[in-house]
Amino acid sequence: MTVDDVEDKAVFRRMTLLVHKYGGTSVGTVERIKAVADRVAATHAEGIQVIVVVSAMSGETNRLLALSRSFDNDVDPVFTDVLVSTGEQVTIGALAIALQARGVEAVPLCGWQVPIVTDTVAGKARIKHISTERLRDILHAGKVAIVAGFQGVSEAGMITTLGRGGSDTTAVALAAAMQADECQIYTDVDGVYTSDPRVVSDARRLDTVTFEEMLELASQGSKVLQIRSVEFAGKYKVPLRVLSSFKDGPGTLITVDKGEYKDMEQPVVSGIAFNRDEAKLTVRGVPDVPGAAYRILGPIGEANIEVDMIVQNVGADSTTDFTFTVHRADFDKARSILEETARSLGAGEVIGDDRIAKVSVVGVGMRSHANIASRMFQALGQEGVNMLMISTSEIKISVVVEEKYLELAVRCLHTAFGLHEEAGK
Ligand code: ADP
Ligand code: ASP
Ligand code: MG
Repeated sequence: MTVDDVEDKAVFRRMTLLVHKYGGTSVGTVERIKAVADRVAATHAEGIQVIVVVSAMSGETNRLLALSRSFDNDVDPVFTDVLVSTGEQVTIGALAIALQARGVEAVPLCGWQVPIVTDTVAGKARIKHISTERLRDILHAGKVAIVAGFQGVSEAGMITTLGRGGSDTTAVALAAAMQADECQIYTDVDGVYTSDPRVVSDARRLDTVTFEEMLELASQGSKVLQIRSVEFAGKYKVPLRVLSSFKDGPGTLITVDKGEYKDMEQPVVSGIAFNRDEAKLTVRGVPDVPGAAYRILGPIGEANIEVDMIVQNVGADSTTDFTFTVHRADFDKARSILEETARSLGAGEVIGDDRIAKVSVVGVGMRSHANIASRMFQALGQEGVNMLMISTSEIKISVVVEEKYLELAVRCLHTAFGLHEEAGK
């Protein structure tokens, strides 16, 4: 390494580097892409280095997925990835054009051009490695790098995608690899709220939320951030902020620890999350013997189906009813696997219900407070909402309810835990 190299690197590090990520709605029309270009150009003009990650224009990924399903054969998911990843390529090109009109030189890159190297699990690939050299060269030349979100390339050179909402993960992974000063997720809400503002009209924006809480909110269904992006940000300590692409404001900072914000009273419950994409399956009359649960869930796992809640209860006749939940998209597949297993185990009938939803109360403050569960059950009971399953962890309580009661359940819990009130009351 020469002295020049060292000096170059030192200059590089002194400049602020931000990763901006714009979701589908934020790039949904030509006008909105122009507005994104304005924001990026203004940031660049302040002497800040910017890497922009963009999603496909809103509705595009759904359209492309439907297109991949419109052939008669069983589709190889590797080919679906090639097709579906094109949505983001359109946006990087469009944003580069808009930036050019503003006198900003930008280099649009697909995942494979960075490259963002992933494993080979089509449709939900995981990032293994990101090369930073090309991005550093672009920034060093005073240009803006625009990277297509949601996509990568396997070591064998095939295009992969990172799962729905995966552009968030692209952004955080790039911010980690490039040691950016902040990863800013620009979206159609101005931060993380106590619940989805589309369902709870008086939900309140949170100034800060811990990684732990955000992880739980995301995994329980708050789709404002893809869960993997939160995992990544927590693991690599990436400063992460959710902001509106339509109006200025502080957004929500995802922090390591609320201890830094001691002046703020720590609310016990920070949010109510929900997930409609759930289904539940029960196999009746399972012989109560060691290994039965493994024999039931083993084949489900082998089929790459994720299981969420699990409940079993031994009855007077020494058999158990074994119930678990899966993603609604996996319902039919899981059901037919389970029917096969039930036969080989000598168990009873298999019952399924795909009209259910999960509601969760989340908060790190719950650790030190008793009675959260009883308050939750009381509130649901008073509204006549029946709970079909319950599961708890240190910082969340989740219940499964009939889908038709979902919105009622979310709103009554939001009120019961006083989340609409001002912080600190
Ligand atoms: P993008 O296209 O920008 O990635 P998403 O649709 O993936 O945006 O995420 C933003 C949406 O997340 C919001 O429009 C909102 O309806 C939803 N959402 C769900 N839970 C929350 C929450 N707790 N706080 C804020 N938004 C939430
Ligand atoms: N376009 C992809 C999706 O709709 C990725 C993303 O928007 O984050 O899921
Ligand atoms: Mg998203």
